[in-house]
Amino acid sequence: MTVGLETRLREVLGKKTADALADGLGLDTAGDLLGHYPFRYAQRGERTDLASLGIGDDVTVAAQVRAAVKKTFTPRSGKGRGRGGRGDLLEVVVADEPGRSLTLTFFNQGWRAKELVAGRWGLFAGKVAQFRGRLQLNSPQYQLLAEDAADPGSAIEEFAGTLIPVYPATAELPTWNIAKAVHTVLGLVPSPPDPLPASLRERLGLLDYGTALRQIHRPDSHEFLGAAKKRLKWQEALVMQTVLVRRKAESAGEAADPYPEGGAILDAFEARLPFELTAGQRQVGAEIAAELAREHPMHRLLQGDVGSGKTLVALRAMLQVVAHGGQAALLAPTEVLAAQHHRSIAEMLGDLAQGGQLGAPAEATRVELLTGSATAAQRRPVLDAVKTGTAGIVIGTHALLYDGVEFANLGLVVVDEQHRFGVEQRDALRAKAKHTPHTLVMTATPIPRTVAMTVYGDLETSRLTELPAGRSPIATHVVPYGDGRWMQRTWTRVREEVAAGRQAYVVCPRVGGDDQDDPNAGDKRPPLAVTDIIEELRGNQLHGLRLGLLHGRLDADEKDRVMRAYAAGDIDVLVATTVIEVGVNVPNATAMVVLDAERFGISQLHQLRGRVGRGTHPGLCLLVSEAMEGTPSRERLDAVASTTDGFALAELDLEQRREGDVLGAAQSGMKSHVKLLSLLKDVDIIAASRTEAAALIDADPELKREPAFAALVDDLAADRGEFLEKG
Ligand code: ADP
Ligand code: MG
Repeated sequence: MTVGLETRLREVLGKKTADALADGLGLDTAGDLLGHYPFRYAQRGERTDLASLGIGDDVTVAAQVRAAVKKTFTPRSGKGRGRGGRGDLLEVVVADEPGRSLTLTFFNQGWRAKELVAGRWGLFAGKVAQFRGRLQLNSPQYQLLAEDAADPGSAIEEFAGTLIPVYPATAELPTWNIAKAVHTVLGLVPSPPDPLPASLRERLGLLDYGTALRQIHRPDSHEFLGAAKKRLKWQEALVMQTVLVRRKAESAGEAADPYPEGGAILDAFEARLPFELTAGQRQVGAEIAAELAREHPMHRLLQGDVGSGKTLVALRAMLQVVAHGGQAALLAPTEVLAAQHHRSIAEMLGDLAQGGQLGAPAEATRVELLTGSATAAQRRPVLDAVKTGTAGIVIGTHALLYDGVEFANLGLVVVDEQHRFGVEQRDALRAKAKHTPHTLVMTATPIPRTVAMTVYGDLETSRLTELPAGRSPIATHVVPYGDGRWMQRTWTRVREEVAAGRQAYVVCPRVGGDDQDDPNAGDKRPPLAVTDIIEELRGNQLHGLRLGLLHGRLDADEKDRVMRAYAAGDIDVLVATTVIEVGVNVPNATAMVVLDAERFGISQLHQLRGRVGRGTHPGLCLLVSEAMEGTPSRERLDAVASTTDGFALAELDLEQRREGDVLGAAQSGMKSHVKLLSLLKDVDIIAASRTEAAALIDADPELKREPAFAALVDDLAADRGEFLEKG
């Protein structure tokens, strides 16, 4: 029988092992198993550093049995009583060097004393616990080395190589059994076909596939291990980038309706703009204008820190499309934001948004709002206006995606705050157009370059790096919750702002009322809730001020009413959850108090504070927290207080999160394809593989000359909707 990567493990391994690999780890084929890489390597000499074990660590140590003692064990309560209340306790002391010992305990397994005799070497795996000041492993799994191993070092080496691979394992299948299975399979498939293009591999000096697989599982040295990882990371990166480059090439070939630069309504709007565009707005605007004029769809990501004026960039693009008979749709992640966009865009356009009305300029259009909460009667005229094309600009939430919505001529889709939007939604909207519409995606969450290259790899990116002139600085301070004087000062500051004719936000992590307490909170008190805090503030600290309540569980009309009242200045202090996190723009709001601030992420706090200081008065943001000085939570808050550079904070945020979290929910599908590559650390490989992928696709668009590589690319492409774009 010839064995290849696609051969089922059942055919080459014992049934028990194959079943355990399949059930416990989802590994069915030889290729699956060889792709199950060790997550670390224990090394001779340092592997058995029993001195450096941490309580709770999962460890594998190589050590020698020094003594085994059987004791009778009387449980203090409960367990074991039924069986006469006593049991055997076998205590085995193992050591790797004199004085570096660890105790292993086994309950009612006294027979193990026969094999765990003094002098035997073995590998022992389990979770480190502490008992009476001593470190121990309770009921560890173990593998003994040959009895006559004269030199335990070489015996271990023989057993596991110089660097002992440690695999993600299960209770039924300890790491050394996986190592054994891998060893067997490596012997059967010594040189699997290499999917990487040979010329590229040679030019970059990468190991061949078979060698890389052998070395990642049984490294001969650190050098080989490094080379194996590099080669395998390259493969992951190149496959991923090829998917993205190919997709980009495909969409570049698609047809789109061109919208020439300028146009009557755009010119009329620019003529009445009350301020100068920032240099960034002008430059990004020019890029977008040129792309809209082409016969291929634009796919552009616009990143800009909070308050950098992205909406205006989008509006100018929308007007260019409207000026030439197209329609533009603006998708917002929440109803609050959609309604706000509708208000502010209608306001900015003035009578240019009153198309069809008496006295409106000839070039005027109509701006419609369509959200899920609209009644059928409210929807009908809007749907008509969208269908007949009298509405040039349509703003909405995902309600825009419903089947009943038909566009006369959708030319541009703008997605505000992409990270709340899935690819299916974007595609659903695109399907409503005759030709692929141009797409502009806007986000205030800065994305590091490598992540942008992977998650948004088929989009061109632009950045707005400056804020409009005349923006006031935001001062941020951390306020200790327990300190009465500070807290009093906090509420006094809010009162002072209100007395000066300005407004404030108070943000809490939780809605309250009937919602469940945070299940992760454990013994901690639940996070503060807006519904409780508003009562407390109303009765005490902010007595006499006009307070408003806003959270996600209010119905849409109520949310809209509250936001309007706040924008109109009829509410002094808005007590809200993170529904105000993105986009909300009330320039008269100057102060924000965030309660239980440590419950929010760095980027989230930065977004939140972007709600103040949007006008000419300086902004103030007070982060109230119980987090003690010196704790990681407190350090995050101090970081937010120390800078208003959103990009710097986003990088910090990413550093503190684990790799798997970087892509959020998007990562699950990614995992099976990207195992070694770090989107945060392997910047060089990702950037270089991007270039290589572009060259490959350029020379051979369908990868006809590289069938093995093409198969990997197709495989990932088939899954990619699941992750690469979800964001
Ligand atoms: P964001 O990028 O966070 O979405 P917005 O588009 O909401 O920012 O803009 C924030 C505020 O800045 C709005 O009130 C907008 O009218 C104003 N603005 C935009 N561009 C300029 C500019 N060039 N000069 C002055 N104010 C501007
Ligand atoms: Mg915005």
